[in-house]
Amino acid sequence: MNIILLGPPGAGKGTQARHLVETRNMVQLSTGDMLREAKSSGSEMGKMVADVMARGDLVTDEIVIGLIREKLEGDNKGGFIFDGFPRTLEQADALGQLMDEQGQTLDAVIEMRVDDAALVDRITARSTCAGCGEVYNDNTKPVPADGVCTSCGEKKEFTRRADDNEESLKTRLMAYYKQTSPLIGYYYAKEMLSRVDGLGEIKAVQGEIAGVLDA
Ligand code: AMP
Repeated sequence: MNIILLGPPGAGKGTQARHLVETRNMVQLSTGDMLREAKSSGSEMGKMVADVMARGDLVTDEIVIGLIREKLEGDNKGGFIFDGFPRTLEQADALGQLMDEQGQTLDAVIEMRVDDAALVDRITARSTCAGCGEVYNDNTKPVPADGVCTSCGEKKEFTRRADDNEESLKTRLMAYYKQTSPLIGYYYAKEMLSRVDGLGEIKAVQGEIAGVLDA
């Protein structure tokens, strides 16, 4: 089963994708993670996108479609979870085409609904285990006092994303509403859209998503 998790920054797409990887053997394709990797590897592409990402704007369709194209050729085990992709109508069209070329289908698009005030609180309180990517929150799920990640059991650094600040969050939200939210109508019209309440407890959201996948 191949699915898209759609929602603004901080909606919990990454957290839910990680759970699906663990429980359903799915493969998470996060263009944000791929771009951050390119940045930290110091590649030419990484250098090109660094400023755009720091500001909170979208990188070009060409770059992210290229990243996804490479990954679609790999093993998809229990199916792909597209996390943070597509973010524009052009990317959505390209994904449809790429899936056709691979003889694959897109089975569901899950919109994670949240309100903006909650997003600011979530994002500015967020940190991530540098080892496994487990997401923590200063208020609801603080980093363990002994510094040992509850997910991977390793004593790693817990890092904050450079773009998780109020200024770039404003730009990221604007990009979401202007460029990405039209995808809600796009997939609704294709009769692929389901909605879950992204503001619930992590387990409740997991349950709602399972309900969509197992329907
Ligand atoms: P994310 O980790 O999904 O929040 O993405 C972090 C940043 O990477 C975004 O603010 C964009 O600058 C860039 N990015 C990630 N995915 C895409 C995409 N599909 N299209 C354009 N830019 C993207």
